[in-house]
Amino acid sequence: MTSSVPEGTSPPSPMAGPRIEPRVALSIRELTKRYGSVAAIDRLSLDIASGEFLSLLGPSGSGKSTILMAIAGFVDPDGGDILLDGQPVGGLPPEKRGFGVVFQGYALFPHMTVRGNIAYPLKLRGIRGAELDRRVERAIDLVHLQAFAGRMPRQLSGGQQQRVALARALVFDPAVVLLDEPLSALDKKLRAELQFELKSLHQRLGTTFVNVTHDQEEAMTMSDRIVILRDGRVQQIGTPDALYNTPATRFVADFLGRANFLEGEAGPVSGGCLTIGIDGAGVRHRLRDSEPRMGRTALLALRPERLSVLAPDAAVGDRNRVEGRVVTSAFVGSQHIHVVETPLGVLEAHTPAFGAGVLRKPGEAVALAWPWDGGVLVEDR
Ligand code: ADP
Repeated sequence: MTSSVPEGTSPPSPMAGPRIEPRVALSIRELTKRYGSVAAIDRLSLDIASGEFLSLLGPSGSGKSTILMAIAGFVDPDGGDILLDGQPVGGLPPEKRGFGVVFQGYALFPHMTVRGNIAYPLKLRGIRGAELDRRVERAIDLVHLQAFAGRMPRQLSGGQQQRVALARALVFDPAVVLLDEPLSALDKKLRAELQFELKSLHQRLGTTFVNVTHDQEEAMTMSDRIVILRDGRVQQIGTPDALYNTPATRFVADFLGRANFLEGEAGPVSGGCLTIGIDGAGVRHRLRDSEPRMGRTALLALRPERLSVLAPDAAVGDRNRVEGRVVTSAFVGSQHIHVVETPLGVLEAHTPAFGAGVLRKPGEAVALAWPWDGGVLVEDR
């Protein structure tokens, strides 16, 4: 079966030679799983391109793990199909589906060495002798565990154990690797390091990765595309850039990164700019083609880093401007965070902490400014 390119997959660069259509590796059709009255997965359809790194991202209880477990074959769906390379896998037990899995409940074998753990999936598949050794060594190299191959799992750090789990999932060259919160047990610094390692591993191998996470930064760091889930349904699918800069709904804008929301009356459009009336004030917004047609109300999502914090008498040029008073402020290394009470509501601004950046104190009067194209209209859901 041939399938078309999943929506939102970035096209190959024109410099990359002849255009090669990405193949759909994994296709999910109308997948449904109910637990009593709760639909953990609600008629979910999704195409995952071959070689893609796709993350399922959503709050706790949004159905991420259930989807991954259904793909892997550990959860029996109530309806729908899962196709691997066009072939339905729904009737197959997990071991016959051929996925590499890194699941929380799929711990390392404590009585086997690192090498033994990594060799296990190959032995299951009847691979022995020199071929076994060659592939195990290659997997050990891939995750940089050469010095630890003879150790037992309990003699490894959390990060090293996760690398063994990853090598064990990759050693038999699966077409698709399923990862369920692979880094969640690690501390923040190690997690950040392993995110980049996992991403570079993915780039070298070209294997399809489907990753579950509730950590928005992790999803943005590693993924080609992110699926934002809520109550077992897809809210939006896109590249990290597209989801962050053009969220379709309040939920997506709020879940991925921080956002201020300005709600008002949709007024006249002139020169490509909509005026949004909020308590007698007018906020200008440059309309994009992709934005939803408005009704009488307009909801603008405004990222905190699009706001400048200025002296109250500063000129702002062709920008929106609102005066306010600082409620709280903080220095967080790269940025100053200001929370400012304004007639438009309480707004959060993130400004660079270097150069001319000034941290203003609570009670100080300021003006906030942002460009007309600084926000994005979102649906109120
Ligand atoms: P997530 O991984 O996004 O946190 P889950 O897939 O674990 O979400 O759960 C989705 C929904 O299904 C939740 O409401 C959860 O309570 C419910 N659920 C998941 N597994 C079971 C189960 N074995 N029995 C009953 N309800 C379940």
